[in-house]
Amino acid sequence: MNKTRTIGTRKRIALVAHDHMKKDIIDWAIHNKVTLAKHELFSTGTTGKMIEEALDRPVKKLLSGPLGGDQQIGAMIAEGELDILIFFWDPMEAQPHDSDVKALLRLGVAWNILLACDRATADFILTSPLMSGEYETALPDYSGYLNRKVK
Ligand code: PGA
Repeated sequence: MNKTRTIGTRKRIALVAHDHMKKDIIDWAIHNKVTLAKHELFSTGTTGKMIEEALDRPVKKLLSGPLGGDQQIGAMIAEGELDILIFFWDPMEAQPHDSDVKALLRLGVAWNILLACDRATADFILTSPLMSGEYETALPDYSGYLNRKVK
């Protein structure tokens, strides 16, 4: 049987937005301020500073995305330290850290976390009845990969 991980009632949510998407994530965060107040927020440096100011509440800020913040968030996902990633990446502009963006999206899927890349999906996640209780989520089984034969 697959292993599971319990997502607690107070969820650990990471918020990341590229520069042209920052206004959108701030609007979304203000709109959802009451719900977000029940959860713990993490963010890349610049997005985090703006969310902190907009919501007037502390956000655990990591490095700025292009300076390693995306990789820090990815590492937290791999370590089981985040439950939800709201990542408004810019579909219209290449980023200097495109490889980090791809890596972050990959780890979000590899570890089966909740992952929203647009406002509609983020709204569906935040308004889900599952947000207000514990949730048992499947942990992908990578034992085959770990036990593979490498010559
Ligand atoms: P920033 O990083 O919040 O520091 O701007 C976002 C990103 O580009 O990943």
